[in-house]
Amino acid sequence: MLPRFDVLQPDTIKEACVLLKQYGPQGAAVLAGGTDILVDIRIPIIPEHLPRCKGCDPKTGKPQKAVEHPPEYMIALSHIPELQGIEALQDGRIAIGAMTCIAAICDSKLIQENLQALAEGCDSLGSPLVRNRGTIGGNICNARPAADALLPSVALGAQLEICSIKGTRTIPIEDFVTGPGRTTLAEGEILTQIIFPKAPPQTGSSFTKLANRKALEISVVNAAAKVTIGDDGKISDARITLGAVAPKPILIPKAAKSLIGNRPSSELFEKVGEIAATECKPITDHRGSKTYRVDMVKVLVKRVLERAVKGAQ
Ligand SMILES: Cc1cc2nc3c(=O)[nH]c(=O)nc-3n(C[C@H](O)[C@H](O)[C@H](O)COP(=O)(O)OP(=O)(O)OC[C@H]3O[C@@H](n4cnc5c(N)ncnc54)[C@H](O)[C@@H]3O)c2cc1C
Repeated sequence: MLPRFDVLQPDTIKEACVLLKQYGPQGAAVLAGGTDILVDIRIPIIPEHLPRCKGCDPKTGKPQKAVEHPPEYMIALSHIPELQGIEALQDGRIAIGAMTCIAAICDSKLIQENLQALAEGCDSLGSPLVRNRGTIGGNICNARPAADALLPSVALGAQLEICSIKGTRTIPIEDFVTGPGRTTLAEGEILTQIIFPKAPPQTGSSFTKLANRKALEISVVNAAAKVTIGDDGKISDARITLGAVAPKPILIPKAAKSLIGNRPSSELFEKVGEIAATECKPITDHRGSKTYRVDMVKVLVKRVLERAVKGAQ
């Protein structure tokens, strides 16, 4: 089922960057947990079954064929200790190594207490088997519109640390994904860390997902929110994100802004849900229709706001 490729196993980030540069021209890809990439490059047994495509051709608008030239080399990151683990930094930020598996993130007390939306997103992803192998870096770099770890990371305002042989750069996560399966990662670059800012006091966050099955299912719509409440009891800051309703996970600034300066209430969240529905551009596909998705945005946004505010109080 899989095309032939050689696996290279560097021990350091620097070594991985050198290998990527060296083997890139012959066709090399980064291998994390493999739960996306190995599915994408498999050879279809049923001829009509096209593996997941790499988004739409910008010129024709038609879905592009999946990986037409499977990589000849996989640079496996699993032997690099620097890419593993969750760390509370001295300044209050939280850093997660790109190779940290999804299961370790949902099980972490630090994440559950400080980044609840991320814990909930990771908890909803796939099955125990997938969560044990799949990594947060893989979920982010795979850049799917419905990705369940990527979406809460955008709501939580994460920064991405990216390395290559030229050095390190850091970018806001919302500038990373440019379309389905597309990112600003340049050839030879590796995502190394996902860094979450220190949340002000009285901040809560939440994630929710609607899927056609209760487990092992990709989101029809997913939503996440981060809310801060000021000393006067009014909402002082908010970020809301939606997934599977646009070519990439989106921030919805108008809806978030309409919360600021208001006391949390059911009526307010309902109004914000209505605004959120005007900020998304879903399509109709086999998982759900455009109209259904828009209706569900209203429900899901209200739900995540209620939970995020509860976490903040
Ligand atoms: C049965 C099943 C169910 C699933 N259910 C869900 C679900 O409910 N929700 C969901 O969001 N996803 C789901 N997925 C998708 C997948 O499991 C996740 O996206 C997972 O987090 C991918 O991580 P990985 O480590 O396996 O990535 P890989 O497959 O190893 O890599 C994915 C892509 O990212 C690149 N990459 C990985 N790490 C880096 C890095 N550090 N730097 C640069 N590039 C990198 C790879 O080259 C590749 O292109 C499911 C998959 C399966 C097979």
